[in-house]
Amino acid sequence: MTGPSTTPVRSDRELPKSADVVVIGGGIVGACIALELAERGVRVVLCEKGNINEEQSSRNLGWVRLTNRAPAEIPLMIDSIGLWADMDRRLGRATGYVKCGIVFSDRTDAQATQRQDWLLNLRNTGFRVEELTKEAMGARFGGSSFPATYSIFSPFDGRAEPQLAAPAIAEAARDRGALIFQDCAVTAIEKSGGKVSSVVTERGTIATSTAVIAAGAWSGALCESLNIPLPHLDVLATAFRTTAINDGPDVSFGTGDFAVRRRLDGGYTVGSFRSRAELVPNSFRYGWRFRSALRTPNMGIHVGKRFYRELKHTFGKAGILDRLAGGRTLDPTPWFCQDAVLDEVAAYFPFLRQARVAQAWAGCIDVTPEQIPVISTLGKTLGLHIASGFSGHGFGLAPGAGRLMADLITGRSPRVDPAPFQFSRYQR
Ligand SMILES: Cc1cc2nc3c(=O)[nH]c(=O)nc-3n(C[C@H](O)[C@H](O)[C@H](O)COP(=O)(O)OP(=O)(O)OC[C@H]3O[C@@H](n4cnc5c(N)ncnc54)[C@H](O)[C@@H]3O)c2cc1C
Repeated sequence: MTGPSTTPVRSDRELPKSADVVVIGGGIVGACIALELAERGVRVVLCEKGNINEEQSSRNLGWVRLTNRAPAEIPLMIDSIGLWADMDRRLGRATGYVKCGIVFSDRTDAQATQRQDWLLNLRNTGFRVEELTKEAMGARFGGSSFPATYSIFSPFDGRAEPQLAAPAIAEAARDRGALIFQDCAVTAIEKSGGKVSSVVTERGTIATSTAVIAAGAWSGALCESLNIPLPHLDVLATAFRTTAINDGPDVSFGTGDFAVRRRLDGGYTVGSFRSRAELVPNSFRYGWRFRSALRTPNMGIHVGKRFYRELKHTFGKAGILDRLAGGRTLDPTPWFCQDAVLDEVAAYFPFLRQARVAQAWAGCIDVTPEQIPVISTLGKTLGLHIASGFSGHGFGLAPGAGRLMADLITGRSPRVDPAPFQFSRYQR
């Protein structure tokens, strides 16, 4: 596995015969849903096909960012920032959350105009950014040779540690009564009389009236097994971590093609926004919906081994286990030279010149056509829910998404309007 090592989580021993809710997928979204439900006294089981936190949730940059969110996500992200701020106290464990602020710099006037337009979304939110001169930008983030035409500092944005957060949240859910099973793929969701009746796993069947699909890039396959098409595109993105650095800035930095943030271990995580849409046969089914996403600068299209592996699944109506036979954990290989990216970034920021690439990895991101998630009931079956399609920014949103999903399940009035996240947008 090329992915970063993540805090191990213990599995519970005996699969229960029944549960109030089964959450499918042990990334940060599934863990947050399990935590919220367990805190409300719901008997919840979290099933993970591999180990907790081995896919996207441990491979991201760890930005907890409000800036540049789609307007529809802003209320949910504001809710999430509040939850992150109290997270370590609530869990009694460390997620590494720090409200460190982010410097955003634009190289062209067009990018600067776009950012200024976005800033209008902050009216009436109480959140304010600081506009930075070139010198002030350099002072905040270790050097001013970056050719910025416009820079801002967003003091309300922050970061947490992707290798710590989801495991800490899952363990805290267990403290409150949740049961966690790893190496326990869900292979089917069964229905009876228009309602969910059970969830079938590799280790046995759990009778339940409520199932939540929080399976990241695998959610589409589970939806297909229920004959519910979920428009999605798999996009590969890369990041790397550097060796530890003395006296580097605590603030994070982002521009159109890369992002940099300090890590708890003293190194930096650098993300390059050169991404790849990974085509699988199903992509052609939904491709037309992704016209605008595919036009994003830095997005390439890639047909790899997974295309051919999935070809037989698409036409042969393969089940989840057949798909798992091709590899249980999505572990794509970075496809361009990370040393060259570090050289490019270090040319602007001298503090990075003492660093080396310590580890590089890639992750498979599940993207929806609107690039906002689906947090919703799913289709017409009672008790069937989905929290997926976080489109490359679900780490920061996960606490709010967990609370929203728990509100939908328990019938509590949601703090955030769920309308933008409804699955029914695909049924119109
Ligand atoms: C390089 C990179 C940088 C990123 N940077 C950021 C960032 O800075 N900030 C941000 O907010 N977001 C970022 N993201 C996006 C973020 O990582 C994701 O949006 C988020 O982690 C999604 O969480 P998830 O729980 O939905 O999915 P995942 O973490 O992918 O978890 C899904 C889990 O479901 C499990 N599963 C799947 N099928 C089954 C099954 N049948 N049975 C049981 N289990 C199953 C999988 O094994 C997996 O563990 C980045 C992503 C990448 C790759």
